[in-house]
Amino acid sequence: MKSFKMAMPKTLEGAVKVLGFDFEKRQLMAGGTDLLGCVKEHIAEPEVVVNLKGIPHLTDVVKTETGVEIGALVKLDDLANNKEIQQRWPALAQAIAQTATPQIRNVGTVGGNLCQRPRCWYYRDENYHCSKKGGSTCYALEGENEYHAIFETGLCQIVHPSNMAGPLIAYDALAEIQSPQGTRQVRLEKFFISPDMNIERENILKPNEILSKILIPNSSANKNSCYYETREKQSFDWALCGTSVSLKLNGKMIQEARVVLNAIAPRPIRRLDLEAALTGKKVSKRLFKKVADMAVQGATPLSKNSYKIELLKVVIERCLSEATEA
Ligand SMILES: Cc1cc2nc3c(=O)[nH]c(=O)nc-3n(C[C@H](O)[C@H](O)[C@H](O)COP(=O)(O)OP(=O)(O)OC[C@H]3O[C@@H](n4cnc5c(N)ncnc54)[C@H](O)[C@@H]3O)c2cc1C
Repeated sequence: MKSFKMAMPKTLEGAVKVLGFDFEKRQLMAGGTDLLGCVKEHIAEPEVVVNLKGIPHLTDVVKTETGVEIGALVKLDDLANNKEIQQRWPALAQAIAQTATPQIRNVGTVGGNLCQRPRCWYYRDENYHCSKKGGSTCYALEGENEYHAIFETGLCQIVHPSNMAGPLIAYDALAEIQSPQGTRQVRLEKFFISPDMNIERENILKPNEILSKILIPNSSANKNSCYYETREKQSFDWALCGTSVSLKLNGKMIQEARVVLNAIAPRPIRRLDLEAALTGKKVSKRLFKKVADMAVQGATPLSKNSYKIELLKVVIERCLSEATEA
């Protein structure tokens, strides 16, 4: 492991100043559960690690008039056990409860989870100079690709690893970003990018920007929502396919729907076509099956992951069923 200096800024403005303009040289650290793995694996070799833990209030969860604000340093476990989140935005608590391991959830943070680097084994192996690391080849395209994408494949076959991104997008959350010019808010849906926008990054952050908080609006609270995923192991693993739904019901009629798929593409994908197919319809198993079948049309699986197509259909049907049974 290459040694590095540690900076401990006391403010977000100070942290932004230390970061500079080169992703490789200066990198942010929150819980460190992902970053330090990358450093040990020689995937990241920063000269300076900018530790966010000295900045006050980033661990706050604050109820506001418009919703709830979640600081970037809030630990995953604290958020999953937050009563307000469990009652009003349960899919978020469900998604976090299935994330990683209890130890990692006790150290890992909201900002770190949303900005974690992909788990593609070619990307994580220093011996492969893949296209995400500035090379010219995506080794997963013709290699061992059973855990990779089935949508938006081609340039880079990673799947976005964050569980909580899906429900947050389904709840129409905003990301607040600290930059040298001040703060701005963007829809979390627009925070994540596909490889054709920038193959080396997974989100819109520039080298000197920090995800400072997540804001979930009251308008998305208390709906019929659910996060459902499937994985090989109960713990210490990642999702094979996941779905988040948030539905506004009037009796059995679906008045509004949001559907987000995760672990099947390089970014979490909101599916407007599925939302339209659900809206104005009566809850039924037949409808859910139709939507699940629709969801996989247009998938472009790789040589070893077409099993994800059937899996995704099951995950969507179960997610919709659980959301409407609640
Ligand atoms: C065995 C294992 C299984 C796992 N399974 C899952 C799973 O099923 N689902 C899932 O979602 N995750 C999973 N994870 C990932 C885990 O959730 C992350 O490691 C953790 O959430 C990262 O949080 P952290 O605070 O430790 O991030 P760090 O390691 O500190 O940072 C991660 C990355 O984000 C950047 N970063 C951190 N904070 C910010 C910020 N505020 N603004 C901008 N950039 C920032 C860092 O520079 C770094 O690149 C798993 C991890 C392991 C090791």
